[in-house]
Amino acid sequence: MSSSAPIILGGVFIPPVQTNQMDAEAKKKRDEARKQRLDSFKKRVFESSSIAKEIIEASMAKGVGICFDSDLGGCLGCFSPSMNVVCLNEKMKDEQLLSTLVHECQHSLQTPEQGMENTGKGYISSVRALEADAMAHQCAALYQMQKKEPEAFNDFMKSHGGIMMAYTQEFYKTKDANKAKAAAFKAWYADAKYVEKYDHSCCEFLEQGMMYSGAYKKDVSSEKLAEKFSYVPEEFFKSKEANTVSEQTAKDIASIEKAHIRHALNWFNRSNIKVSCDDFYVRDQKGEVHPPKNQVKAALLKNKAMSR
Ligand SMILES: [Zn+2]
Repeated sequence: MSSSAPIILGGVFIPPVQTNQMDAEAKKKRDEARKQRLDSFKKRVFESSSIAKEIIEASMAKGVGICFDSDLGGCLGCFSPSMNVVCLNEKMKDEQLLSTLVHECQHSLQTPEQGMENTGKGYISSVRALEADAMAHQCAALYQMQKKEPEAFNDFMKSHGGIMMAYTQEFYKTKDANKAKAAAFKAWYADAKYVEKYDHSCCEFLEQGMMYSGAYKKDVSSEKLAEKFSYVPEEFFKSKEANTVSEQTAKDIASIEKAHIRHALNWFNRSNIKVSCDDFYVRDQKGEVHPPKNQVKAALLKNKAMSR
Protein backbone atom coordinates (compact mmCIF):
# COMPACT_ATOMS: atom_id res chain seq x y z
CA MET A 1 0.00 0.00 0.00
CA SER A 2 1.44 3.32 -0.97
CA SER A 3 -1.27 5.88 -0.11
CA SER A 4 -4.38 6.23 2.06
CA ALA A 5 -7.40 8.51 2.41
CA PRO A 6 -7.10 11.68 4.52
CA ILE A 7 -7.94 11.12 8.21
CA ILE A 8 -10.02 13.66 10.11
CA LEU A 9 -9.76 13.42 13.89
CA GLY A 10 -11.72 15.83 16.08
CA GLY A 11 -11.91 18.32 13.24
CA VAL A 12 -8.13 18.30 12.71
CA PHE A 13 -7.12 17.35 9.23
CA ILE A 14 -4.27 14.92 9.22
CA PRO A 15 -2.75 14.55 5.78
CA PRO A 16 -2.26 11.01 4.54
CA VAL A 17 1.13 9.72 5.51
CA GLN A 18 2.54 7.78 2.64
CA THR A 19 4.92 5.78 4.81
CA ASN A 20 5.42 2.81 2.54
CA GLN A 21 6.12 4.96 -0.48
CA MET A 22 8.52 7.14 1.50
CA ASP A 23 10.27 4.13 2.96
CA ALA A 24 10.67 2.60 -0.45
CA GLU A 25 12.01 5.87 -1.81
CA ALA A 26 14.43 6.31 1.08
CA LYS A 27 15.52 2.70 0.77
CA LYS A 28 16.12 3.11 -2.94
CA LYS A 29 18.23 6.21 -2.29
CA ARG A 30 20.17 4.48 0.46
CA ASP A 31 20.83 1.40 -1.69
CA GLU A 32 21.98 3.58 -4.58
CA ALA A 33 24.37 5.48 -2.28
CA ARG A 34 25.68 2.19 -0.87
CA LYS A 35 26.23 0.78 -4.35
CA GLN A 36 28.11 3.88 -5.43
CA ARG A 37 30.27 3.79 -2.30
CA LEU A 38 31.07 0.13 -2.83
CA ASP A 39 31.90 0.66 -6.52
CA SER A 40 34.25 3.48 -5.58
CA PHE A 41 35.87 1.27 -2.90
CA LYS A 42 36.51 -1.49 -5.41
CA LYS A 43 37.94 0.99 -7.93
CA ARG A 44 40.22 2.60 -5.34
CA VAL A 45 41.45 -0.70 -3.93
CA PHE A 46 41.94 -2.30 -7.37
CA GLU A 47 43.93 0.72 -8.55
CA SER A 48 46.16 0.85 -5.50
CA SER A 49 46.96 -2.84 -4.79
CA SER A 50 47.29 -5.89 -7.01
CA ILE A 51 47.23 -8.14 -3.91
CA ALA A 52 43.94 -6.62 -2.74
CA LYS A 53 42.48 -6.94 -6.25
CA GLU A 54 43.39 -10.61 -6.39
CA ILE A 55 41.80 -11.33 -2.98
CA ILE A 56 38.58 -9.42 -3.68
CA GLU A 57 38.18 -10.94 -7.15
CA ALA A 58 38.79 -14.46 -5.81
CA SER A 59 36.16 -13.84 -3.16
CA MET A 60 33.63 -12.57 -5.72
CA ALA A 61 34.41 -15.54 -7.97
CA LYS A 62 33.32 -17.78 -5.05
CA GLY A 63 29.96 -15.99 -5.11
CA VAL A 64 30.60 -13.95 -1.97
CA GLY A 65 28.32 -10.90 -1.78
CA ILE A 66 29.61 -7.58 -0.45
CA CYS A 67 27.26 -5.18 1.30
CA PHE A 68 26.99 -2.35 3.80
CA ASP A 69 25.26 -2.63 7.13
CA SER A 70 24.36 0.06 9.64
CA ASP A 71 24.00 -2.37 12.52
CA LEU A 72 27.49 -3.68 13.21
CA GLY A 73 28.17 -1.76 16.45
CA GLY A 74 31.85 -0.96 16.85
CA CYS A 75 32.87 -3.60 14.33
CA LEU A 76 34.43 -2.41 11.05
CA GLY A 77 33.18 -5.40 9.10
CA CYS A 78 32.55 -9.12 9.16
CA PHE A 79 32.23 -12.18 6.97
CA SER A 80 29.22 -14.42 7.45
CA PRO A 81 29.96 -17.96 6.13
CA SER A 82 26.32 -19.01 6.47
CA MET A 83 25.12 -16.12 4.27
CA ASN A 84 28.31 -16.00 2.17
CA VAL A 85 28.42 -12.25 2.59
CA VAL A 86 31.06 -9.69 3.55
CA CYS A 87 29.46 -6.82 5.46
CA LEU A 88 31.07 -3.42 6.00
CA ASN A 89 29.95 -1.02 8.71
CA GLU A 90 28.61 1.93 6.75
CA LYS A 91 29.06 4.26 9.73
CA MET A 92 32.84 3.97 9.51
CA LYS A 93 35.13 6.16 7.42
CA ASP A 94 36.44 5.23 3.96
CA GLU A 95 40.04 5.00 5.18
CA GLN A 96 38.97 2.42 7.78
CA LEU A 97 36.89 0.35 5.38
CA LEU A 98 39.15 0.13 2.33
CA SER A 99 41.51 -2.39 3.88
CA THR A 100 38.73 -3.96 5.99
CA LEU A 101 37.22 -5.06 2.69
CA VAL A 102 40.44 -6.94 1.90
CA HIS A 103 40.58 -8.44 5.43
CA GLU A 104 37.01 -9.76 5.31
CA CYS A 105 37.35 -11.06 1.74
CA GLN A 106 40.45 -12.97 2.87
CA HIS A 107 38.29 -14.57 5.61
CA SER A 108 35.88 -15.68 2.89
CA LEU A 109 38.72 -17.58 1.17
CA GLN A 110 39.79 -19.46 4.32
CA THR A 111 38.75 -22.96 5.30
CA PRO A 112 38.12 -22.76 9.04
CA GLU A 113 38.01 -25.66 11.50
CA GLN A 114 34.31 -25.56 12.16
CA GLY A 115 32.47 -26.29 15.32
CA MET A 116 32.68 -27.54 18.84
CA GLU A 117 34.32 -30.84 17.90
CA ASN A 118 37.63 -29.10 18.47
CA THR A 119 39.42 -29.06 21.81
CA GLY A 120 39.86 -25.68 23.44
CA LYS A 121 43.48 -25.60 22.33
CA GLY A 122 42.63 -26.72 18.80
CA TYR A 123 39.87 -24.18 18.35
CA ILE A 124 41.84 -21.27 19.78
CA SER A 125 44.93 -22.17 17.71
CA SER A 126 42.81 -22.31 14.59
CA VAL A 127 40.92 -19.05 15.18
CA ARG A 128 44.16 -17.23 16.01
CA ALA A 129 45.71 -18.41 12.74
CA LEU A 130 42.67 -17.36 10.70
CA GLU A 131 42.79 -13.88 12.18
CA ALA A 132 46.58 -13.55 11.82
CA ASP A 133 46.24 -14.65 8.17
CA ALA A 134 43.52 -12.08 7.39
CA MET A 135 45.62 -9.40 9.06
CA ALA A 136 48.81 -10.44 7.22
CA HIS A 137 47.00 -10.12 3.87
CA GLN A 138 45.56 -6.78 4.95
CA CYS A 139 49.14 -5.61 5.66
CA ALA A 140 50.32 -6.85 2.26
CA ALA A 141 47.53 -4.87 0.57
CA LEU A 142 48.10 -1.75 2.66
CA TYR A 143 51.81 -1.81 1.93
CA GLN A 144 50.97 -1.45 -1.77
CA MET A 145 48.15 1.02 -1.06
CA GLN A 146 50.19 3.48 0.97
CA LYS A 147 51.09 5.78 -1.95
CA LYS A 148 47.61 6.15 -3.42
CA GLU A 149 45.67 5.70 -0.17
CA PRO A 150 47.93 7.14 2.54
CA GLU A 151 45.01 7.74 4.92
CA ALA A 152 44.07 4.06 4.88
CA PHE A 153 47.68 3.13 5.64
CA ASN A 154 47.99 5.73 8.43
CA ASP A 155 44.71 4.70 10.00
CA PHE A 156 45.83 1.07 10.17
CA MET A 157 49.22 2.14 11.57
CA LYS A 158 47.41 3.85 14.47
CA SER A 159 45.69 0.66 15.61
CA HIS A 160 48.03 -2.11 14.37
CA GLY A 161 51.39 -0.40 13.95
CA GLY A 162 53.41 -3.38 15.25
CA ILE A 163 52.06 -5.79 12.64
CA MET A 164 52.41 -3.28 9.82
CA MET A 165 56.00 -2.49 10.84
CA ALA A 166 56.85 -6.21 10.92
CA TYR A 167 55.57 -6.52 7.33
CA THR A 168 57.34 -3.36 6.15
CA GLN A 169 60.71 -4.24 7.69
CA GLU A 170 60.72 -7.77 6.29
CA PHE A 171 59.66 -6.62 2.84
CA TYR A 172 62.32 -3.92 2.86
CA LYS A 173 64.92 -6.54 3.72
CA THR A 174 63.89 -9.39 1.42
CA LYS A 175 61.50 -7.89 -1.20
CA ASP A 176 59.52 -11.10 -0.69
CA ALA A 177 55.80 -10.63 -0.01
CA ASN A 178 55.42 -14.16 1.42
CA LYS A 179 58.24 -13.68 3.92
CA ALA A 180 56.81 -10.28 4.85
CA LYS A 181 53.35 -11.83 5.31
CA ALA A 182 54.89 -14.47 7.59
CA ALA A 183 56.50 -11.71 9.67
CA ALA A 184 53.15 -9.90 9.99
CA PHE A 185 51.40 -13.19 10.81
CA LYS A 186 53.82 -13.86 13.68
CA ALA A 187 53.61 -10.27 14.91
CA TRP A 188 49.84 -10.66 15.31
CA TYR A 189 50.47 -12.94 18.31
CA ALA A 190 52.66 -10.36 20.09
CA ASP A 191 49.83 -8.17 21.39
CA ALA A 192 48.71 -10.34 24.32
CA LYS A 193 45.70 -8.24 25.35
CA TYR A 194 44.36 -8.13 21.80
CA VAL A 195 44.86 -11.89 21.28
CA GLU A 196 43.11 -12.60 24.58
CA LYS A 197 39.92 -10.96 23.28
CA TYR A 198 39.79 -13.55 20.51
CA ASP A 199 40.58 -16.36 22.95
CA HIS A 200 37.75 -15.17 25.18
CA SER A 201 35.20 -15.24 22.37
CA CYS A 202 36.43 -18.75 21.45
CA CYS A 203 35.71 -19.92 25.02
CA GLU A 204 32.26 -18.34 24.91
CA PHE A 205 31.54 -20.26 21.72
CA LEU A 206 32.92 -23.59 23.01
CA GLU A 207 30.92 -23.29 26.22
CA GLN A 208 27.79 -23.98 24.19
CA GLY A 209 29.01 -27.50 23.37
CA MET A 210 28.93 -28.92 26.91
CA MET A 211 25.88 -31.08 26.20
CA TYR A 212 26.99 -32.16 22.72
CA SER A 213 28.56 -35.62 22.86
CA GLY A 214 31.01 -35.00 20.00
CA ALA A 215 32.46 -31.84 21.51
CA TYR A 216 36.08 -31.10 22.48
CA LYS A 217 37.67 -34.17 20.90
CA LYS A 218 39.56 -32.95 17.86
CA ASP A 219 42.97 -31.39 18.12
CA VAL A 220 44.31 -29.09 15.39
CA SER A 221 47.93 -30.03 14.83
CA SER A 222 50.76 -27.67 13.93
CA GLU A 223 51.23 -29.74 10.73
CA LYS A 224 47.67 -29.00 9.69
CA LEU A 225 48.04 -25.29 10.39
CA ALA A 226 51.32 -25.17 8.45
CA GLU A 227 49.61 -26.89 5.55
CA LYS A 228 46.81 -24.30 5.51
CA PHE A 229 49.03 -21.28 6.01
CA SER A 230 51.92 -22.49 3.91
CA TYR A 231 53.84 -19.18 3.95
CA VAL A 232 54.34 -19.58 7.73
CA PRO A 233 57.07 -22.05 8.85
CA GLU A 234 55.68 -25.00 10.82
CA GLU A 235 58.02 -24.35 13.79
CA PHE A 236 56.08 -21.18 14.49
CA PHE A 237 52.89 -23.15 15.18
CA LYS A 238 54.83 -25.17 17.78
CA SER A 239 56.46 -22.13 19.37
CA LYS A 240 55.88 -20.48 22.71
CA GLU A 241 54.82 -17.30 20.86
CA ALA A 242 51.97 -19.09 19.10
CA ASN A 243 50.91 -21.22 22.07
CA THR A 244 50.69 -18.93 25.08
CA VAL A 245 47.37 -18.13 26.75
CA SER A 246 46.51 -16.09 29.83
CA GLU A 247 45.84 -17.81 33.16
CA GLN A 248 42.18 -16.88 32.78
CA THR A 249 41.89 -18.51 29.33
CA ALA A 250 43.57 -21.69 30.61
CA LYS A 251 41.11 -21.77 33.52
CA ASP A 252 38.15 -21.21 31.20
CA ILE A 253 39.21 -24.04 28.86
CA ALA A 254 39.72 -26.40 31.82
CA SER A 255 36.32 -25.66 33.31
CA ILE A 256 34.53 -26.00 29.95
CA GLU A 257 36.20 -29.34 29.07
CA LYS A 258 35.78 -30.78 32.58
CA ALA A 259 32.09 -29.88 32.60
CA HIS A 260 31.46 -31.79 29.36
CA ILE A 261 28.66 -34.34 29.45
CA ARG A 262 31.02 -37.32 28.96
CA HIS A 263 32.54 -36.62 32.40
CA ALA A 264 29.16 -36.29 34.09
CA LEU A 265 29.53 -39.52 36.08
CA ASN A 266 33.17 -39.01 36.90
CA TRP A 267 32.65 -37.20 40.21
CA PHE A 268 35.39 -38.95 42.17
CA ASN A 269 38.28 -38.58 39.80
CA ARG A 270 37.79 -35.10 38.41
CA SER A 271 41.35 -33.92 38.92
CA ASN A 272 42.50 -36.59 36.43
CA ILE A 273 40.31 -35.40 33.56
CA LYS A 274 42.60 -34.45 30.69
CA VAL A 275 42.20 -30.89 29.46
CA SER A 276 43.71 -29.43 26.30
CA CYS A 277 44.93 -26.22 27.98
CA ASP A 278 47.68 -28.32 29.62
CA ASP A 279 49.41 -28.19 26.20
CA PHE A 280 49.45 -24.38 26.22
CA TYR A 281 52.12 -22.15 27.78
CA VAL A 282 50.45 -20.01 30.44
CA ARG A 283 51.17 -16.35 31.16
CA ASP A 284 50.55 -15.44 34.81
CA GLN A 285 49.33 -12.04 36.00
CA LYS A 286 52.89 -10.78 36.45
CA GLY A 287 53.55 -11.55 32.78
CA GLU A 288 55.77 -14.55 33.42
CA VAL A 289 55.24 -17.42 30.97
CA HIS A 290 55.18 -20.99 32.33
CA PRO A 291 55.78 -24.09 30.18
CA PRO A 292 52.84 -26.39 29.36
CA LYS A 293 51.89 -28.71 32.27
CA ASN A 294 52.08 -31.73 29.95
CA GLN A 295 55.61 -30.79 28.90
CA VAL A 296 56.70 -30.52 32.56
CA LYS A 297 55.05 -33.87 33.34
CA ALA A 298 56.77 -35.56 30.38
CA ALA A 299 60.17 -34.15 31.43
CA LEU A 300 59.68 -35.43 35.00
CA LEU A 301 58.77 -38.91 33.75
CA LYS A 302 61.80 -38.95 31.47
CA ASN A 303 64.10 -37.94 34.36
CA LYS A 304 62.60 -40.64 36.57
CA ALA A 305 63.09 -43.29 33.89
CA MET A 306 66.70 -42.22 33.35
CA SER A 307 67.54 -42.24 37.06
CA ARG A 308 66.36 -45.83 37.43
ZN1 LIG B 1 39.16 -10.93 11.06
